[in-house]
Amino acid sequence: MQRISILGATGSIGQSTLEVIRRNPTQFEVFALTAAKNIHRLVQQCLEFKPRFAVVASESDLDELKLALSNAGSSSVPLAGKEALESVSSDSDVDTVMAAIVGAAGLLPTMAAVKAGKKVLLANKEALVMSGELFIAEVARHGATLLPIDSEHNAIFQCLPHQVQQDSSGSELASHGISKILLTGSGGPFLTSPISSLSNMTPEQACKHPNWSMGRKISVDSATMMNKGLEFIEAKWLFNADPEQIQVVIHPQSVIHSMVQYRDGSVLAQLGNPDMCTPIAHAMAFPERIDSGVAPLDFTNMLDFSFTAPDFERFPCLKLAIDACKAGQWACTALNAANEVAVNAFLERLIRFTDISAVNQQVLEKVQSQQLNSLEQVVELDRMARKVANQVIAETQ
Ligand code: NAD
Ligand code: MG
Repeated sequence: MQRISILGATGSIGQSTLEVIRRNPTQFEVFALTAAKNIHRLVQQCLEFKPRFAVVASESDLDELKLALSNAGSSSVPLAGKEALESVSSDSDVDTVMAAIVGAAGLLPTMAAVKAGKKVLLANKEALVMSGELFIAEVARHGATLLPIDSEHNAIFQCLPHQVQQDSSGSELASHGISKILLTGSGGPFLTSPISSLSNMTPEQACKHPNWSMGRKISVDSATMMNKGLEFIEAKWLFNADPEQIQVVIHPQSVIHSMVQYRDGSVLAQLGNPDMCTPIAHAMAFPERIDSGVAPLDFTNMLDFSFTAPDFERFPCLKLAIDACKAGQWACTALNAANEVAVNAFLERLIRFTDISAVNQQVLEKVQSQQLNSLEQVVELDRMARKVANQVIAETQ
């Protein structure tokens, strides 16, 4: 029986995690569920999964949570705030933490789980992008187990040799015969739209992903392909890869979730229907296999597979992220922060779709190259880059 805390339980990944638990009730016990705003859904989840703790991100929502839990007859203990998020991630009774908060807000609770040596299921790619080497060093120092939930990275992990899977301090890919990581992406909803139409795309259009159902921030990131850029950086850290060893491939059908190419010419791929319950179930049960509820692929009824190279004119955010990955940690941290602010402004209809990359680029030009040697410095640069992004957005209007 694994005891699990789910950070971001009310979101898309959180709900899929609970779906996998629902199918495997004898193997998992929910220790804590956390949410930012959706108290109604959190309470419904508490009634079904009976966690010891229910946590809201902000202290100002604690009274509402207490009242809602008691009205519903739930015995979960209500908690609130940053320290509560960290404590349910690091509690000695917890085995596994699903890190599924969106954005930089997930960094500190995810790090708390890492520092407590937990099995950390990482959906929250932004946490790794913004802290990179520091994050990976803490995983090794505290003997935590880091398993990727992002479907591409989970696919890559499944295609790696066993020894590399076991080595949390980072294997040399080339010495295991690996020549390349092929990171696939669908290209999102605007893959074939005229480039001249992109500036008029609405949040509703951007959030309508052809293959995946996801939260709003990652949906917009998929439309700009910043998501693939963040995943490029994520792959660098998760697999100890040089940027030259990672290649982005557009595969609009989203059936191949990524591939690993070996020096002898072999390419191993992981395939499946585009449903996050598969990578979630894989990581939750690793090295065993459990039921995820995802329908098997039907090879007798499948459209053709196609592959192309990404077009950086259409997807300037992808280029910005790959360049940031090569420039260093400060650029990744600043880009991640700028992008969160820009995506939020786009969702609030303050800027156009094409302004997202423009804001990101301007922030990178305004922030100075610097060494980041501690988590405090990472958090400080994140704060500063957000401020610059907000200034750039104010000037855009
Ligand atoms: P979502 O918006 O559906 O859910 C986000 C969750 O985080 C919610 O439970 C929300 O309450 C919580 N949250 C938001 N802001 C918070 C804050 N400030 N403090 C504490 N909690 C907060 O997002 P999602 O699609 O589930 O994505 C979650 C993470 O997983 C993201 O980092 C995303 O990139 C990654 N991811 C998602 C998918 C997917 O298919 N949805 C796939 C791969 C990776
Ligand atoms: Mg992904």
